[in-house]
Amino acid sequence: MRSLYTYMSNEKTRVALFSLLASVLITVMNITAWLLTNSLAVLAESMHTFLDILVTTITLIAVSVGSKPPDKEHPFGHGKAESIGGLFGSLFIIVAGILIGYESAERIMMRTPFTPDMVAIIVMAIAIAIDVNRSRALRRAAVKWNSRALEADSYHFLSDVAIETSVIALMIIGLLMERLSIGLFDEWGALLDSLIAFAIVIYFSVIGARIMRTSIDELMDKTSEELIRRVANVTKSVQGVVSVKDIKARRIGSMAHIEVTIGVSDHLSIAEAHNIADNVESAIKREVGPSIVMVHVEPELRERVERALASVRNPLITNIHELNILESQNGVVVSMHMVVRSDAKLSDINKAVNEVESKVKQEIPNALVWIHLEPDKRAINIDEVRKAVNAVCSKYGGRVGDINIVEAGGISAMRILVYLPQSMSVTEAHNVATEIESEIAKVYSMPYHVVVSVLPDTKTL
Ligand SMILES: [Zn+2]
Ligand SMILES: [Zn+2]
Ligand SMILES: [Zn+2]
Repeated sequence: MRSLYTYMSNEKTRVALFSLLASVLITVMNITAWLLTNSLAVLAESMHTFLDILVTTITLIAVSVGSKPPDKEHPFGHGKAESIGGLFGSLFIIVAGILIGYESAERIMMRTPFTPDMVAIIVMAIAIAIDVNRSRALRRAAVKWNSRALEADSYHFLSDVAIETSVIALMIIGLLMERLSIGLFDEWGALLDSLIAFAIVIYFSVIGARIMRTSIDELMDKTSEELIRRVANVTKSVQGVVSVKDIKARRIGSMAHIEVTIGVSDHLSIAEAHNIADNVESAIKREVGPSIVMVHVEPELRERVERALASVRNPLITNIHELNILESQNGVVVSMHMVVRSDAKLSDINKAVNEVESKVKQEIPNALVWIHLEPDKRAINIDEVRKAVNAVCSKYGGRVGDINIVEAGGISAMRILVYLPQSMSVTEAHNVATEIESEIAKVYSMPYHVVVSVLPDTKTL
């Protein structure tokens, strides 16, 4: 339990507490004014300032007690109390709104008069003075402490001035009407009073409904898209974070509960990884304010997959490329192209596929492993290529030159030199080259990097 002194020494808390006390004072004055005037508008305004007691209480909790760290009995903090309070408070205010709305309809029919009174004008004038001042103080504190709760209150009390002004106007009009002609006042004073009351009811019902909605959302653990987006952005910006995998975030009262899973490089020591997690935690707290943050650290998926694949020792597998790791809703998908000996039997290849699959799953248990098989390109038969190319060339009066095959990291490139008649146009020559490419694609279904180079044949015309 903190002492009152440390409690009050926090500027945010001090501003919020004074605002709460001001709301209590204004409510008491309003009820007094209502008893004097029997004005429905003043009654509605009393209800409104009563709601403001709730609003300022929530703010006070938000800036002080709500950020109280979790203890043994409340491992998830004390934020839910705020949501429950908000729910009951807003329910009360909506019921009050309905009753006053009903009363104002009735008074419009019955033309129940009110008694305009100078006291009501003075009360409202005091309320305006208080609202303008606390709105300014809240605004200053909100900017200084970057507090949304204080900022919202600052705007609220500024707009309250409009309500208070309308009640003053009502009282002045009432007093004037009373002076001029009682009949006119009876007729129109009650109507005006009811209409202003009705407007005030709508004003505070909207505020009450907003509090109710956030309270329910928080009680239902609804995640906030906006919160998740902010957490994602700030987490990504922390040095050492390779990826942000999963974020669970919800607000309970003024407390946010955030769980985030980050991917870091495998090469880090435990101390280094822990350091990054700490940095993520403090960055999130800086961004979202009072919160409970849990950071799970995982070695980056790709590194884990690559390690798993490196441990596969199967002579039939000559290369794995196009490795893609997708994190879908159904789990991690690991897809790859696997180059295998083209002379191997499918049944043997299947064993190799199973081996790769199980190694990946040892590392990532629920991974879906998608393997696209490609036959080894070294098994290519140059004579066969030459025959296929020759068949095309001879149609156009050309001939085949050198055929070169280059291997690099399991990827092969083939260069075919063809000589075509000198009289042939470039367009025609390109067509021939394209035809040769497609013929080779027919013989070797795997996409080689095939380059067909065309030279003019000096032996022909
Ligand atoms: Zn208000
Ligand atoms: Zn491939
Ligand atoms: Zn081309």
